[in-house]
Amino acid sequence: MQVKCVICDNIEGIDDYSLQAKRLRNRRIHMYLCKTCYERIDEKTKARHKSGNFRLYREKKRKNDLI
Ligand SMILES: [Zn+2]
Repeated sequence: MQVKCVICDNIEGIDDYSLQAKRLRNRRIHMYLCKTCYERIDEKTKARHKSGNFRLYREKKRKNDLI
């Protein structure tokens, strides 16, 4: 099936029987991201997770200080 990237409007063909195509048909995911945009977002998400872990660590440390 043909899918359009929501960010850059790039049209890509994906395998009809791929998990991604199934999800799009079942509307479990409403938008498609091309590889380039997906990788760009993936990097941002990973960076956010890193900073999130850092906050979590500091919170734990503060609790330990109280005990
Ligand atoms: Zn794109």
